[in-house]
Amino acid sequence: MTKLDVEWAKDWMRRASASLTEHRMELIDLDRAIGDGDHGENMARGFGFVVQRLDENPPEDVAGVFKLVAQTLMSKVGGAAGPLYGTAFIRATKAATDDLDAAGVVAVCEAALDGIVARGKASTGEKTMVDAWTPAIAAARAAAEAGRSPAEALRAAADGAAKGAAETIPMQATKGRASYLGERSIGHQDPGATSTAYLLATAADAAEAVS
Ligand code: ADP
Ligand code: MG
Repeated sequence: MTKLDVEWAKDWMRRASASLTEHRMELIDLDRAIGDGDHGENMARGFGFVVQRLDENPPEDVAGVFKLVAQTLMSKVGGAAGPLYGTAFIRATKAATDDLDAAGVVAVCEAALDGIVARGKASTGEKTMVDAWTPAIAAARAAAEAGRSPAEALRAAADGAAKGAAETIPMQATKGRASYLGERSIGHQDPGATSTAYLLATAADAAEAVS
């Protein structure tokens, strides 16, 4: 079974940048509905800088890629999402190896979620990116325990995140800017949960490309 290494991590970031640019307007519109409309721009710009820095200074290992992503998102992305994703990628460096199997993929995602929760203190059901990461990890863990490949674990994570993002629609936001809207936040999909689904989908795409 193909394990995931630094080439996967770099390819993931290129694909993430392309996907977030492609979905920039959709994320802006989602954030306009329940926030301030900056999420699509923040994410597309942030990952644009990530790719630029990857080209200038290619890291040698997966942890180096995650560290570069964390530092770039922390310094270049405003709003709540920059520090939240930044902390996620900082924590992910601790679980990163250069031969990630399916269990390793689960460990990386768990570390990322731990970082998001440490930073934002959200639980599931509060209409945030936590509602995408949590089912993503459950699905990836099930795949790993069933003996699936890392690419299959990431695809399960991506599908779990997309489902989790859709399930934020009927929720009322109780964390972040959307919580200011109270009941009026109901009926809209959370932008951060949506960007998480795109991020994990591109991780799976990159893994499938080397499998
Ligand atoms: P801002 O709300 O500051 O404009 P963004 O628009 O970039 O920041 O990001 C908004 C997203 O951040 C939300 O859709 C939500 O998923 C996520 N978010 C906000 N607060 C939290 C939190 N405390 N914990 C987890 N995620 C959060
Ligand atoms: Mg916003």
